[in-house]
Amino acid sequence: MESIKTEKVLLHICCGPCAITPVQALRAEGALVVGFFYRHNIHPFTEMQRRAQTLADYAERIGMKVIFQEGYDLEGFIRRVVYRETRRCMVCYHERLRATARLARASRFDAFTTTLLYSKFQRHELIREIGESVGREIGIPFAYRDFRSGWQEGVETSRRLGMYRQPYCGCIYSEKERYAHEGAAGRRPAAEDRSHVGAGDRAFAD
Ligand code: SF4
Repeated sequence: MESIKTEKVLLHICCGPCAITPVQALRAEGALVVGFFYRHNIHPFTEMQRRAQTLADYAERIGMKVIFQEGYDLEGFIRRVVYRETRRCMVCYHERLRATARLARASRFDAFTTTLLYSKFQRHELIREIGESVGREIGIPFAYRDFRSGWQEGVETSRRLGMYRQPYCGCIYSEKERYAHEGAAGRRPAAEDRSHVGAGDRAFAD
């Protein structure tokens, strides 16, 4: 992977706090990093706006250009995952990485990658697999990196800067997993009752 030319990289960004470490790491390699904020999987609309604004503020602070996806296809996202809710993260990763790869190819970037590789709670190997597959399909290299070693530093930086840190992954299902199971008694269900949960619950339960 290190041989992939990364002078100009399109970085899919899920949120401002998750962008801190990947942008630093890619810039340290000498890459020109442009961000791409994908919107359809972040619900509800006002939450998406809040995350977008947090990223816009951070991008301005560090002098990074960000392309904000247009439109807001919440309905399409729901249609694509309905009846396969337990496997929705795979669909979601695929959609986000494919959109990023297409944009990177059309805009003549050298490669694309994602801040999803920063989270130590997301399905890292699946993201790598999908990224590489999508890259082959679209015809642009996926710059795989393991950004997870900078996890804690990224968390601390985001807190120090007073950035908004969202309490759930993004989709409305992850919002339910984060809050609904607490119930009237405020208790989380036993692990065996939580086998259905997606990345959102694992990433933001603390
Ligand atoms: S939990 Fe996160 S990764 Fe999974 S489908 Fe929802 S937004 Fe996508």
